[in-house]
Amino acid sequence: MSILVYIENVEGALKKSAFESLSYGKAVGDLTGEKVTALSIGNVSQEELNKVGQYGVEKVIEVNSSDLGQFVNQAYASVIAEVAKSIDAQTVILSNSFSGKGLAPRIAAKLGAALADGAISLPTISGSIWQIQKSVFSNKAIATEELQEQKKVIALTPNSLEATESAVPVAIEKYEPQVAAADLSTVIKDIVRATDKVSLPEADIVVSAGRGLKGPENWAMVEELADVLGAATACSKPVSDAGWRPHAEHVGQTGLAVTPNLYIAIGISGAIQHLAGVSASKTIVVINKDPEAPFFKVADYGIVGDAFEVVPQLIEALKAYKNN
Ligand SMILES: Cc1cc2nc3c(=O)[nH]c(=O)nc-3n(C[C@H](O)[C@H](O)[C@H](O)COP(=O)(O)OP(=O)(O)OC[C@H]3O[C@@H](n4cnc5c(N)ncnc54)[C@H](O)[C@@H]3O)c2cc1C
Repeated sequence: MSILVYIENVEGALKKSAFESLSYGKAVGDLTGEKVTALSIGNVSQEELNKVGQYGVEKVIEVNSSDLGQFVNQAYASVIAEVAKSIDAQTVILSNSFSGKGLAPRIAAKLGAALADGAISLPTISGSIWQIQKSVFSNKAIATEELQEQKKVIALTPNSLEATESAVPVAIEKYEPQVAAADLSTVIKDIVRATDKVSLPEADIVVSAGRGLKGPENWAMVEELADVLGAATACSKPVSDAGWRPHAEHVGQTGLAVTPNLYIAIGISGAIQHLAGVSASKTIVVINKDPEAPFFKVADYGIVGDAFEVVPQLIEALKAYKNN
């Protein structure tokens, strides 16, 4: 029996969430005494795959066929389930990313496994019953899910647990899956990136701004702050509704839910629908000229002040700090 961790890549580079999943897999393996194997699908270099060893996992199964060069949900789910069966994996771990959200239930169905998606904790294990925490009701509560099946699929929320290093040598083994034609009925011809900036759902730091910025012409300072911090940019709903920013940046109840380590909210009131998508952030910094803005109630640090004065000073201070 073993544990299989699916490690995602983007354009051949392993994602940060892949290292979190590996660390999580290693920690689960330490609890159950099972060996952990990583699975990579797509064209990832040996140098990248060797990084798996930094997180305590000794073996990677590499699937690299031309059919599977681009992510196709049905085909990837079939391959992950096939590999899980071939190594008798009782537990499959992956990231609850955009693609992981689609993969996890398919894999669970194929394996007849219990599913914990959006997991935020290591399992508490009692025999074959595992309890795992996940955040629910837009991060207002934490639910404990009980997994009773022998086989389990766990999709881990990005940024919920840190990747921990414990280096071991890695063996890379190639695997040729049987991919059914029906699984390849979706053909991806091309992927065009809208931006080369940090991806919002994966970001460690998010700089977000709202209607307090008055108009799209004032976003240069938000982008500059994000650049200095290596952060992704986000916005409130009215901002994207007004066309000041792309809809892909809208966070909240009806937008993306994000879980960065640092969320900086500039000129955003903190309406409940906005908080629904951001309140699971580890540290929240709010910049607002209204001391009564509801966002201050959930902030770890708050600056009461005019964004047009505060943000440029913050950028200068961060640049000076980095240069020293
Ligand atoms: C069903 C439904 C779903 C929704 N889903 C979402 C969602 O997913 N995401 C979302 O964001 N909203 C959502 N909303 C909208 C939400 O209710 C709020 O209207 C919205 O979040 C407010 O955006 P805002 O804070 O940018 O603007 P405002 O409410 O106008 O607030 C602007 C803030 O900027 C501050 N400010 C003004 N000038 C300055 C300055 N110079 N310096 C510093 N601060 C300044 C003000 O004090 C104020 O607090 C939803 C609403 C509904 C009804």
